[in-house]
Amino acid sequence: MSKGTINVSVENIFPLIKKFLYSDHEIFLRELVSNATDATLKLKHLTNIGEAKVDYGSPKIEVKIDKDKKQLHIIDQGIGMTREEVEKYINEIAFSGAEEFIEKYKDKNGDDAGIIGHFGLGFYSAFMVAKKVEIITKSYKDEPAVHWTCDGSPNYIIEKSSKEDRGTEIILHIAEDSTEFLEESRIRELLVKYNKFMPIPIKFGTKTETLSKPEGAKEEEPAPTKEVDNIINNPDPAWTKAPTELKDEDYKSFYRELYPMQFEEPLFNIHLNVDYPFNLTGILYFPKMTNDMNIQKDKIQLYQNQVFVTDNVEGIVPEFLTMLRGVIDSPDIPLNVSRSYLQADGAVKKISSYITRKVADKLKSLFNSDREDFEKKWNDIKMVIEYGMLTEEKFYEKAQDFALYPTVDGTYFTFSELKEKIKDLQTDKDDKLVVLYASNTETQHSYIEAAKAKGYEVLLLDSPIVSHLLQKIESKEEKISFVRVDSDPIDSLIKKEEEAVSKLNDDEKETLSGFLKETIPSEKFTVKLEAMDSNANPFIITEPEFMRRMKE
Ligand code: ADP
Ligand code: MG
Repeated sequence: MSKGTINVSVENIFPLIKKFLYSDHEIFLRELVSNATDATLKLKHLTNIGEAKVDYGSPKIEVKIDKDKKQLHIIDQGIGMTREEVEKYINEIAFSGAEEFIEKYKDKNGDDAGIIGHFGLGFYSAFMVAKKVEIITKSYKDEPAVHWTCDGSPNYIIEKSSKEDRGTEIILHIAEDSTEFLEESRIRELLVKYNKFMPIPIKFGTKTETLSKPEGAKEEEPAPTKEVDNIINNPDPAWTKAPTELKDEDYKSFYRELYPMQFEEPLFNIHLNVDYPFNLTGILYFPKMTNDMNIQKDKIQLYQNQVFVTDNVEGIVPEFLTMLRGVIDSPDIPLNVSRSYLQADGAVKKISSYITRKVADKLKSLFNSDREDFEKKWNDIKMVIEYGMLTEEKFYEKAQDFALYPTVDGTYFTFSELKEKIKDLQTDKDDKLVVLYASNTETQHSYIEAAKAKGYEVLLLDSPIVSHLLQKIESKEEKISFVRVDSDPIDSLIKKEEEAVSKLNDDEKETLSGFLKETIPSEKFTVKLEAMDSNANPFIITEPEFMRRMKE
């Protein structure tokens, strides 16, 4: 046995670690399971290339609670460490990492905790929840096993161990203020949150599996059962597979796996897969969406090499796509930095525009391959598309090919079809195209009918952001204006037809207009007396378009 002092300049680093990582203690488990996974994958690689001449077998990682001893164990069958490696990787390297980390962040305040949460402090994050940590490890190399113990001071003990099987066991002596991590439900929750899709099977306890009854078993005989490992993860999630390997049903069942509480099926999915100039895989789903913009709780999840990092992807995907669901997995997203830095980062910008492009391409191909189906889905996807057009220039341009403009009668035009359709009847004296729209078919009913009677097309645009989008289109397109069907410029449309004839005689008109002027004494409205349509509304009241917009 020998003793040593961990090579670190800060006299006692652990209070600092605790303090700075306070808000996110739970990530210690993610870090330790990640290390166990890394160690197993390293062994896999070494056996593959013939450098480790051992049987790789079918290794798993086990997480075990010993409530009586107040211990948590993380056990792997990976490469293990020799004594030299423990000295090097645990005593020196990791600590200098921790030191650097604390130097970097100790003067900051504010949203530090958020940054740190995504940073991960590797092995030493164990000291956020443990007063003492042991490592018992045996390398795949033919060397004696090692037992390292550290009680949270910079002093450690290293001695021989009798461990015979290859791999590493980490034992955490859980601190008094962290006993929540001795609860089965809490550990299961963490494993599901962070490790659900990690590549090595993770065992947490056992479960009873019901086997099929043997031939000729009696009706009342209970089916036999057996205790099997309770594996909490799916080591081969759909996004790690090639799109050609997956059927529609696979995408749907993966969606259910991601969001077990979500009963509505997604409308369609987009498989992301790129390895140059950055690495990124993932599957995005378009959920059904209604007009309410409530923040949803099922969000896009960000992974790094199958380890869950966060479900706050703000800054990584464009805002309009945060309404989607699914997963993104990329080792190339820097996570140890603030969100504002992320948005300025070159790699992240590329990732964000790649995702935008993929989404636009998918929408276009859905539109091209089955327009009828696309029209059916329009109501559920328009929020995302309209919001994207409003906020992302590139997307605006691409969306010209598939964004739809439905009429009150249920016809769907693309923008160019719409322009073509209305160019004869709906121009004003300045040669501007005037697009009429309604936002509500009930309250605007008589205006819609009147416009239709004159042969005009009336769009039904009812999403909450559409008025902003219309302004944007007006500013980008020359000679087009959107006019709500109940506002005044509708009168300035040039329409070559005989004047409408009022069914009222002059006396009646005078009485009525006198009455209306008294009843609606406002310059904000215009009252016109005319025969509106075949139903002969005797008059209409319109409001200037600019007044209407001011109210929105
Ligand atoms: P990182 O994982 O980022 O390298 P850590 O602090 O998590 O940093 O771990 C430090 C090093 O300790 C690892 O790089 C690895 O060499 C070693 N190590 C940690 N856990 C294990 C383990 N379970 N099996 C083998 N080696 C490990
Ligand atoms: Mg690590």
